[in-house]
Amino acid sequence: MYVHCGSVQKARKLFDEIPQKSLITWNAMISGYSQHGHGMEVLDLYQDMQTSGTLPDEVTLVGVLSSCANLGAQRIGHDLEKKIDILGYGSNTFLKNALMNMYARCGNLSKATAIFDAMPEKSLISWTAIIGGYGMHGQGKVSVELFDQMIRTGIKPDKAVFVSVLTACSHAGLTEKGLDYFYSMEKKYNLKPSTEHYSCVVDLLGRAGQLSKARDFIESMPMNPDGPVWGALLGACKIHKNVELAKLAFDKVVELEPDNIGYYVLLSNIYSEANDKEGISRIRIMMRERGVRKDPGYSFVERNGKLHLFMAGSKSHPQEKEIYDMLRKLQHLVEPNNDRAISTSTSVHSERLAIAFALLNSTEEKICVIKNLRICADCHVFVKSVSKFFNFEFIIRDATRFHHFKDGSCSCKDFW
Ligand SMILES: [Zn+2]
Ligand SMILES: [Zn+2]
Repeated sequence: MYVHCGSVQKARKLFDEIPQKSLITWNAMISGYSQHGHGMEVLDLYQDMQTSGTLPDEVTLVGVLSSCANLGAQRIGHDLEKKIDILGYGSNTFLKNALMNMYARCGNLSKATAIFDAMPEKSLISWTAIIGGYGMHGQGKVSVELFDQMIRTGIKPDKAVFVSVLTACSHAGLTEKGLDYFYSMEKKYNLKPSTEHYSCVVDLLGRAGQLSKARDFIESMPMNPDGPVWGALLGACKIHKNVELAKLAFDKVVELEPDNIGYYVLLSNIYSEANDKEGISRIRIMMRERGVRKDPGYSFVERNGKLHLFMAGSKSHPQEKEIYDMLRKLQHLVEPNNDRAISTSTSVHSERLAIAFALLNSTEEKICVIKNLRICADCHVFVKSVSKFFNFEFIIRDATRFHHFKDGSCSCKDFW
């Protein structure tokens, strides 16, 4: 009851008071944490559960896997995969889907694909997960091929798989293809598009630079556009530097979602690129008046099966001194003529600290960082430059997608 009502702390208090915890007790708490996005607590609790000697079942494992997916904890997820086999759940489709999703969201698309390929029975959920997986990584062409393949095998698509394929098309710039899919929903499959699909199409048109078409499309909607629809237009205005339309989209979106900080930050960035100082200060005042607070940026990176959390500018890590030394070295590599101190706000953004830490402790040639917010333009340039000097693939999953940095360029083609 407490979990369902959103009171995770009260549920935990009760949980702690139960002397003899059954599997059901553990599952209720683990799924509760997992549903409310408390991934770290899920992993801690799962540790406790193992210590207590209670064996997990499918419900436990799905909860823990989805937390690994959110946190980018691939090593822990990989251990779970072994555990699943040992416990005899190896052929459970439910768990296979969860594993696939975990690998895709941790940046390991090849492992996700291997699991998908080996599945004897692929459900609509499996297809949705793999199509979405490729989409997140900017490989929209593969998503489209998979979608068509799914249709050929006779599976009837639902609204969720259309969201995945439309998102994939927009991240890969497949505008025409995406529009075809959108219009086929009703015509071919008798599915009424929801606002989520409309926002995908706005994103699709907007990214392709067809801003006025995107606006007309919003006005032609049969239902009232919601926040994400206008938000997609605002995001497109940022990419294509259209200040006028951005103002309009912003006015609409803050009316619907006045507390969503992301939109204020977007418009403020648009003003800053247009050198509009007045605009920036207007946004600041508006945020102060409405009490909208900026979420602190943080990043996770996993090393040797342990998750390390970095906040922007944080100095609480045991390897703090080495991390900041490394950051200075990287800064010098990237900008040898600039003796800028490592103190300005963007130079200590959480993903940079995570990367410096990972480079210090690396055993593999891949570094995967999970970040809660959208990566900023400064850090994007920084990581691209850093990737020239190392034989590493730097992967950053930000709030919207994956960025794969290698040899000085990014898989998003600077389009995010
Ligand atoms: Zn940044
Ligand atoms: Zn990128």
